Amino acid sequence: LEGSGSVEKHSVIYDIPEIKFTKLFINGSFVDAVSGFLFPFSSLGKTFETIDPRTGEVIVSVAEGDKEDIDLAVKAARNAFDHGKWPRMSGFERGQIMMKFAELVDKHTDELAALDAIDAGKLLSLGKMLDIPQSANTLRYYAGAADKIHGETLKMSRELFGYTLLEPVGVVGHIIPWNFPSILFFTKVSPALAAGCTMIVKPAEQTPLSALYYAHLAKLAGIPDGVLNVVNGFGEKAGAAMSSHMDIDKISFTGSTEVGRVVMKAAAESNLKVVSLELGGKSPVIIFDDADVDTAVDIALLGILFNKASTVPRTLNGEACVAGSRVYVQEGIYDQFVKKIAVKANNWLVGDPFDPRVQQGPQVDKNQFEKVLSYIEYGKRDGATLLTGGKAIGEKGYYIQPTIFTDVTENMSIVKDEIFGPVLSLMKFKTIEEAIEKANNTKYGLAAGIVTKDLNVANRVSRSIRAGIIWINCYLAIDSDVPFGGYKMSGFGKDNGLEALHKYLNVKSVVTPLYNSPW
Ligand code: NAD
Repeated sequence: LEGSGSVEKHSVIYDIPEIKFTKLFINGSFVDAVSGFLFPFSSLGKTFETIDPRTGEVIVSVAEGDKEDIDLAVKAARNAFDHGKWPRMSGFERGQIMMKFAELVDKHTDELAALDAIDAGKLLSLGKMLDIPQSANTLRYYAGAADKIHGETLKMSRELFGYTLLEPVGVVGHIIPWNFPSILFFTKVSPALAAGCTMIVKPAEQTPLSALYYAHLAKLAGIPDGVLNVVNGFGEKAGAAMSSHMDIDKISFTGSTEVGRVVMKAAAESNLKVVSLELGGKSPVIIFDDADVDTAVDIALLGILFNKASTVPRTLNGEACVAGSRVYVQEGIYDQFVKKIAVKANNWLVGDPFDPRVQQGPQVDKNQFEKVLSYIEYGKRDGATLLTGGKAIGEKGYYIQPTIFTDVTENMSIVKDEIFGPVLSLMKFKTIEEAIEKANNTKYGLAAGIVTKDLNVANRVSRSIRAGIIWINCYLAIDSDVPFGGYKMSGFGKDNGLEALHKYLNVKSVVTPLYNSPW
């Protein structure tokens, strides 16, 4: 295994997980899909194949849910909400069960990280270090909040007594993407569970496996039947059935801006369910002249390739919604920065996600792989210069070299569009005003990075960028208590933090006269 451009010749076999769960999880049981082409007369038990991005080969077939399966899951969730004990038990009790769930997640860390590695191409080492522990901690964070949900006493202007109650919003549909199958599962499920909601999760069709394992652990932890249902299936079928369902009270969606728009339209045209959208991004990283160039190079590389700063950077092949895919470097250090980032990117280790030395695994699937390669072609066609990478690696699997473009202009598609791959555009700027203007020149507003030692500059720029999270002298520092979500076409409604808990609560006002006073 060498730097970029090479992948281990012989496939590396480490801890390939046994696949234990492949059916739908509805009302506390693993069941076959009932949906079929001629439902209800034939084709029971429809399935689809999930693919290993390391090889392009089938891992296993899993049950494919469609409208009829979503209906069954919604019925179970509705029954659990209207008549079950989950919304009615004390927040403390819900929190205790969620803590137990978190313990079980911790206990199965290795197996769960391996499932995400084989299904999504995520690095096994990163899964063990970040994705799975972070998932368990998100559960714990909201478990701790479950018994602290309360309304307010109102200061009425007349002799009335008024207060608010916070009530669970009802049956929730969570639709999630493939890039963080575990973290996003718990980002959605944990606050909804704490609030007392019941729910249906539809994982991305590329990554159906770990969510089913979590459903099994939820049952072991004591989450009552019907509270947490998992229905795998395709977006246009199972996902669409959820967003247009008349008996789902809220949809919490994470995915592309394009599909977010479709989900919102379906919600508006059905029962006006509440919608929150965590969508795409094209986030800028602005590096000022006073920055230490080596640190700035690390931050820029981690911003595009990775998702956690550590002494051994582990990367996520650009498949992060907050990827810092536009890097603006001030002119005084630009040339030096370009030289240094090229050396590091050329030595980046790309290969099998089960190999502990590897820094970057494959793209998630063939579509994504081809999309990224075609953007690289658009960059070349539009006149940008390839500083590093630009090619696929190996004969098998979906590996792409870390790719950096220079001589890039603001109107090129590689600068405007979300590529969702290891493709970085480097641009030069002179003044702080120019940097702010260029950084804001996007329809997205998910995140931004600033690298400078000057506090005044950092403060000014962080207040001027229209994005939901700003990282100063770091990137991708995310935690359960940090509200996360976009401005502009990156969506609305925050995940994480207590803000996310409130997404799953309704405010009810109660008013009564005091002392039999006239109202
Ligand atoms: P996607 O929008 O194609 O799919 C996301 C989910 O929506 C999947 O479960 C899919 O099956 C479902 N879906 C597809 N069509 C649907 C439809 N018509 N109705 C209902 N559901 C439908 O996105 P993706 O390719 O899986 O993920 C990548 C995108 O997700 C990127 O744009 C990325 O930026 C975004 N993302 C955002 C965040 C965030 O927090 N803002 C986090 C991770 C990923």
